Amino acid sequence: MEEKRKDVLTWDEYFMGLAHLSALRSKDPNTQVGAAIVDENHRVVSVGYNGMPKGCSDDVFPWSREGAILQTKYAFVVHAELNAILNSKYPVSGCTLYVSLFPCNECAKAIIQAGIRRIVYESDKYQNTDTTIASRRMLKAAGIELVQLENTVVLHVEKVCNPEYREN
Ligand SMILES: [Zn+2]
Repeated sequence: MEEKRKDVLTWDEYFMGLAHLSALRSKDPNTQVGAAIVDENHRVVSVGYNGMPKGCSDDVFPWSREGAILQTKYAFVVHAELNAILNSKYPVSGCTLYVSLFPCNECAKAIIQAGIRRIVYESDKYQNTDTTIASRRMLKAAGIELVQLENTVVLHVEKVCNPEYREN
């Protein structure tokens, strides 16, 4: 009798993979962050990535990291987590948020107020910055479960010409 596969992705790894896939939509030349919001039945409720607000052309608004605030992306970009919350057609209360980078303090406020109960993240590379310290302080005070993935998920995504494509 054949054995079933045992090295499958866990749910947490699978949804982190979806967050990574969503990040590939980002136009940001330096940082691509993806997020996915999932309910207690493992149903995807929403996804998001970092980008300019609707109507704010990503060809016109700046992507720079340095210079006067109005010349940088920081004044304008909507983070992946906030986009995932705002894009959702359904309430996200009680859900888990998957995000490739630990949320900033502004996203933490939205995550708490939206009622998300668990955050699964991968990178914590800004953990010693004031904004991340503030974020962690609020998320902990709000009783949100914080889980760093032990295994990272690496996607190898490739765009190729569809050999079966026929123009209609
Ligand atoms: Zn943020």
